[in-house]
Amino acid sequence: MKLEEIAPHVFACLQQKPGLGFSNSGLIDRGGGLVVDTFWDLPHTREMIDHYSNVWATPPRRVVNTHYNGDHCWGNQLFPQADLIGHRRCAESFFKENPALLQSLKGMDVSGQPGLAGLKRGLEPWDFSGVELTPPSVLFDDRLEIQLNGSPVEMVYVGPAHTDSDVVVHFPEKRVVFAGDVVFRLCSPIGWEGTYARWIAALDYIISLNPDVVVPGHGPLCGIEGPREMKAYLEYVREESKSFFDAGLSVAEAARRIDLGPYEVWDGPERLFFNVERAYRELRGDPPDAPIDANFLFAGATQLYLERWAGGT
Ligand SMILES: [Zn+2]
Repeated sequence: MKLEEIAPHVFACLQQKPGLGFSNSGLIDRGGGLVVDTFWDLPHTREMIDHYSNVWATPPRRVVNTHYNGDHCWGNQLFPQADLIGHRRCAESFFKENPALLQSLKGMDVSGQPGLAGLKRGLEPWDFSGVELTPPSVLFDDRLEIQLNGSPVEMVYVGPAHTDSDVVVHFPEKRVVFAGDVVFRLCSPIGWEGTYARWIAALDYIISLNPDVVVPGHGPLCGIEGPREMKAYLEYVREESKSFFDAGLSVAEAARRIDLGPYEVWDGPERLFFNVERAYRELRGDPPDAPIDANFLFAGATQLYLERWAGGT
């Protein structure tokens, strides 16, 4: 984990490891302080707070959650003095994920269940004990603008893209965008509720802001090339998925055959399985908020990894 100064009074706390849940956070140390996203568990969020405490004047008055996934908000309770801000659907979806369940999975025997085994491996670095789900209570629908010592910060709803509750945080004075999981950088995305069209529109919105620095939800800092490459990945996977869907192939077969080209070196290439399945859902005409079979998805991605990137089973 490391702290980077992006601009005067603007910082990013970056978790530099590949793997599930290693997200990024941001801090604007003005107007009482604004933190963008907390981390997946309390130990990692405490480490983030230690980093921030080296540069912030006082504990922040506000925390914004870019969406409801636990790796962006399960540390919220460590900011008891702050207003917690998020999209209305972030609060509504907050209890979809369950820290106690994930903590118990870490101790379970999951032999013979490849989906759970893949997820369990991803959870090894995390300790969800003590997490009390603390959803945002300052809610908005389309946009919220606040002033930090006279400098506006805009929070704009761009979902359902990666999830139903995606928000990007724009600090125009410093040309910085905190993109949440609308942007994964050098790292394969996973999408939950939402559509390719909305996700691509969200990326177009970030590009239209012409930022100098984009803080992605996962991966290293970037400029405008980050959302551009993310958009190209999504367009490519959607197009490839469509041709295999039209040819009648299963999700697993399509994911086995799609040539990832330049995206093969991104962290977690096996997440392609999630993205093909998501494209198939759309091509079948399923609603974007249709229930998701996470066990099937993690099992498919694990199998794909074993076949394509771990030298076969
Ligand atoms: Zn995330």
